[in-house]
Amino acid sequence: MRASELLCPRPQGLYCPQADLYIDPTRPVARALITHGHSDHARAGHGCVMATPETLAIMGVRYGDGFCAAQQALKYGERLQVNGVTFSLHPAGHVLGSAQAAVESRGLRIVASGDYKRQGDPTCPGFEVVKCDVFISEATFALPVFKHPCAEQEVRKLIDSAALFPERAHLVGAYALGKAQRLMALMRQCGWTRPIFAHGALMELTGLYQEFGVNLGAVEQVGPAPKSFFAGAIVLCPPSALQTPWSRRFPEPLNCFASGWMRTRARARQQLVELPLVISDHADWRDLTQTIKDTEAGEVWITHGEAEALAHWCKTQGLEAKALRLVGYGEEDEPANSGP
Ligand SMILES: [Zn+2]
Ligand SMILES: [Zn+2]
Repeated sequence: MRASELLCPRPQGLYCPQADLYIDPTRPVARALITHGHSDHARAGHGCVMATPETLAIMGVRYGDGFCAAQQALKYGERLQVNGVTFSLHPAGHVLGSAQAAVESRGLRIVASGDYKRQGDPTCPGFEVVKCDVFISEATFALPVFKHPCAEQEVRKLIDSAALFPERAHLVGAYALGKAQRLMALMRQCGWTRPIFAHGALMELTGLYQEFGVNLGAVEQVGPAPKSFFAGAIVLCPPSALQTPWSRRFPEPLNCFASGWMRTRARARQQLVELPLVISDHADWRDLTQTIKDTEAGEVWITHGEAEALAHWCKTQGLEAKALRLVGYGEEDEPANSGP
C-alpha cells in the first residue's frame, strides 16, 4: 500500500478514504478526527468527532454541547479500528488534550502530528515519539533563525519586572487556549504566590484545565475595582484586549505579549509591546528537525508554515519530503493584529 492511498490531502483536510475520515477538517464532514482544540483545527458542525476526552471538552466549551452529531472519546494510546484502519492518539505536548494521530493499515504507519512542541509544559503530557514510515509535521517556526528560549526564563523576566514596577499593572496578552494556562502554571513554578488575574474571556477554559487536574493556584476574574487595587498585579488577557478601553482600568499598564513571534522585535514594537515574552507552543527549528530524526520516518509531509525550508532540510538528510499546502491552519499563534 502506498502512503498516499492511506492518507491524502483534500480541500477539506487530510483524508483517509478507507475509513472515510478526515483529520482536522476545515469544513464540515461526516467523520472527523481532531488533534486538538485550537480553532483552526477543531471546528463545529461535523457528524462524528473522535478526539481525546480533553479536546472534546474544550470543543464543548467553545461551541456548546451540540458542536457535532456524535462524539467518540479516544484516550492516549487507545486503538480504534475503522474499516481495517487503526487509529490511535499520542501526546503532542502542545495544549491540554493535544494529540498526534497515528494511522495504520497493512504494516504502514503515518503519524499526523497536528501542532506540537518538545519544550516542557506543566499543563499537558510531553510529546511522545511514535516511530513511523511517514511523519506529517507543521512548519510554523521552521527557519534556523527561530530558536525559542527557555519558557521559564521568560516568565522570570515578567516576575522580575512586576517586582521592579510595583506601582504598575502588568498586562500579558496570551491566547485563551493553552498559552494562558501554561503561563499561569509557569508563574507558579517560578514562585508567584499571589492571585493571578484574568480577563473574563480566559476564565472558562482556565476552569476546564483546573477540572482536568491542572494546578494553577488562585485565578481571579478582573472585576470592578479602584485602579490602585491592581498595583503590582499580573493580569492575563486575550492579545486583542491589550489596546482597548478595558486596559485603562489598570494603573500605568505595562503591555506584555507571550508568543513565539515575539522573537521578531519589529512585531513587538509594531504592537506596542513593552515586554515581549518569547513563549511558543510550537516546536522551533532545532526541535522540528530533531523530531523528524526521532520518528525515523523515511518520508515527511508538511502541512503549513515554512514548508519549503523544512522540505529542503529533509532532502539534505536523504528523506523524501513534500509540502501538502493545506489551507486554513496557523491562525491560532499569529500576532493579534493579523489573527482572528
Ligand atoms: Zn494549535
Ligand atoms: Zn495550528
